[in-house]
Amino acid sequence: MKKLSIILPAYNEEGMVNRAFEQVNNILSNNSISFEIIFVNDGSTDDTWLEILEVSKEHRNVKGVNFSRNFGKEAAIRAGLYYASGDCAVVMDCDMQHPPETILEMYDLWVQGYQIVEGVKISRGKENIINKISSKLFYQVLKKITGFKIDRSSDFKLLDRQVIEEYLHLPEKKMFFRAITFWMGFNSIEIEYEVREREIGTSKWSMMSLIKYAFNNITSFSTAPMQIITIIGVVNLILSLVLGIQSLINYIKGYSLEGFTTVILLLLLIGSSLMISLGIIGFYLSKIYEEVKGRPSYIVSNVAAYTKPHEKDKVSKENEEYFSNI
Ligand code: UDP
Ligand code: MG
Repeated sequence: MKKLSIILPAYNEEGMVNRAFEQVNNILSNNSISFEIIFVNDGSTDDTWLEILEVSKEHRNVKGVNFSRNFGKEAAIRAGLYYASGDCAVVMDCDMQHPPETILEMYDLWVQGYQIVEGVKISRGKENIINKISSKLFYQVLKKITGFKIDRSSDFKLLDRQVIEEYLHLPEKKMFFRAITFWMGFNSIEIEYEVREREIGTSKWSMMSLIKYAFNNITSFSTAPMQIITIIGVVNLILSLVLGIQSLINYIKGYSLEGFTTVILLLLLIGSSLMISLGIIGFYLSKIYEEVKGRPSYIVSNVAAYTKPHEKDKVSKENEEYFSNI
């Protein structure tokens, strides 16, 4: 019988662990789908891990992975997929904003032969105006420079075992799960779902973390910001040619003392564009530095009972090393 793995990254979700289990269990048991749930505790500061242990004690198909600190949702998804043993896996939010009923439709599509089922949002749920505008801008930029149209896509996806293996073999540490499945290709299909309201707790995103997330993801999929620097340079060159000729004419005419404002403006303009350019290059450099260090994307401090990686020898060496450290 085919098995489905449900991966639930959880960060400070103590109130949601049990509810998530109940809801997923209800739906999947009623439809006699064999499944396992993998909770990944992403360094929560509340009792999330204790709750996970509690549920996993009662139910053998509930597994738990505990991070040594907060490594972020991307890392939690990766760990979940690493520990998943199903023939396919669904990644969804622990706060149940992704409706569990959609899992059934995803599963049906997988049975029909689709290897990736992308959950796309019909609406984005309740959001304030600033979030709406900024996310629109982010996805527009991303679409322009990468060609991936992912504005409605989310982390709610079903992946076939083959896709999971390929994903785990990707050597990069910092990934953007939402877009990486587009890059991977395979036989994929989209499925629409309505984002639910959060039952309890609050969103873990602050404005600052969203800006960081946006910039991180744009730079991990494209080098366009670096090319923009070249364009700024060319524009500056043209401007300086014009101003240069003007100043020469002024000099010849004997007005060379004037134009002090222009000098200040130019200094400011060139100074700031240089700094921004350096910043962008620095950002890419820091990404290279991070990857070159080769540190794992997460560290597992302990796991719940019956939790072990799927076919250990098949997955990447990096992950193998964590397991030997547990
Ligand atoms: N999450 C995580 N690590 C983090 C932040 C969030 O594992 O550092 C999990 C969180 O527990 C939830 C999911 O990622 O299951 C989505 O988080 P949240 O609901 O805060 O995001 P939103 O729904 O507002 O986009
Ligand atoms: Mg949420």
